[in-house]
Amino acid sequence: MQRRSETMQLLELRVVKLKSLTFLIVLFLSVGCGKKGPDQLPWPAQVKLIGLSAEQEKTVFSSLSGFTNNSGKELFYFDDRPSQFQITIGKLKVSPETTSKAGLATYNRVSCKVELNEVVFSEDYKDYFDPVLWHELGHCSGMEHDPKEGEIMYHIASPKDFYKTDAVTRFVNSFDGLIALFGK
Ligand SMILES: [Zn+2]
Repeated sequence: MQRRSETMQLLELRVVKLKSLTFLIVLFLSVGCGKKGPDQLPWPAQVKLIGLSAEQEKTVFSSLSGFTNNSGKELFYFDDRPSQFQITIGKLKVSPETTSKAGLATYNRVSCKVELNEVVFSEDYKDYFDPVLWHELGHCSGMEHDPKEGEIMYHIASPKDFYKTDAVTRFVNSFDGLIALFGK
């Protein structure tokens, strides 16, 4: 009998009022349960967009366009080439439980479903879009949370400018590591 194991990672959205002039939105990712990610992940992965507006699709495309690993190998593609690992990106269903979540990644060995809260597509939160999407794709690829603040896989997401170039590089290199680990 085959058991299908799915791992869910929640991304929570929290509004924190600071004493400064502005409201700071902190995207707070709930801590994962330390579960293992997919133990096999053939690259590149096919990405399908579900239920997004044309504008939102553009946002995803621009966030992932040219997203290659350190060796310049393509990680994601959007066309109809046959795939061994499929990632769907759609919107999180709104319910009282999900209004505070910015994203959710659910994955198994052959696929990953990324659901994003509508709010990360909005003008006010656009600076969070890339880190949130990348973080969830990190989960899709089997990455777990990094305990170091400032890393893409840290459990609290910050606006894109907060991340140093080397943190982004380390994140991309993790894809390399996974490729080395799982083979291609
Ligand atoms: Zn997470």
